[in-house]
Amino acid sequence: MSYFEERLPSNGERTVQLREYRVSDAIVVSSMNPKLVERITSKFLSVIQTGENIIDPKTEMTIADRQTLLFKYALLSLQDRTMTDQEEYTIKECNFCGEEHKFRLSIEDFRALAKTQIISKAEVLTEFEGKRLLITPLMGIHAEQLEMFENNLKRIKESAGEESDQYQAERIKRDLHKLLCQFTLVDEMETDLSNKEKAERDKNWLYGLPQSALEGLMQLIMRKQEEIKHGIDFTWTYTCPKTEGQVVSLLPFRFENFIPRI
Ligand SMILES: [Zn+2]
Repeated sequence: MSYFEERLPSNGERTVQLREYRVSDAIVVSSMNPKLVERITSKFLSVIQTGENIIDPKTEMTIADRQTLLFKYALLSLQDRTMTDQEEYTIKECNFCGEEHKFRLSIEDFRALAKTQIISKAEVLTEFEGKRLLITPLMGIHAEQLEMFENNLKRIKESAGEESDQYQAERIKRDLHKLLCQFTLVDEMETDLSNKEKAERDKNWLYGLPQSALEGLMQLIMRKQEEIKHGIDFTWTYTCPKTEGQVVSLLPFRFENFIPRI
């Protein structure tokens, strides 16, 4: 495989062009900390990109764009056996009967049903507590930041435990950061603010909300994110054999496995 072209799921007017992955690229990627998967993903998608209009994987690609591109690119190079090998997936506690279910699925089975949803604009306006909010998806840069939080949390959990003040403080920092990455206040009076000033304003607004409003804001953002969903949906619907209820589970693909290392 030497060339790959795909429309950007979050903005169908833009096209991503990827060339073949060379030893020299693999050297660059393999020299990076393997625990920082999102950082590696950014590097990978930037070194193999070609053409005139390079799309920055950190600031111009959403998390869904990156996963979709990575998955589709990997499909082209996977061996037949990897494609047809059925992995076992477990649903720990079925929503319908409460029991554990297992199902088997190959990448080939999944690919046959996985559709790439392409949208033209990944943003949506909404209102909350009298303010207008522009909701946007999480970007590559956010994935990198959230991964740092996860690594910090893991480290603190090992040294001080999940119940320590330090762990709880870091967890809250992560949750609020994730929320702040998904909205911007729309205020026509403050158009000349820099991005940094806007971020500060949004944070002050969030911190000034009544605590009881937080859950509502989180729910609203989640619902709005559904409206601008794009890329491949990596969930799988499994039918409970006892109740015939439809259980939706997220396929545990490890995206780092799609980026070969030396
Ligand atoms: Zn069940």
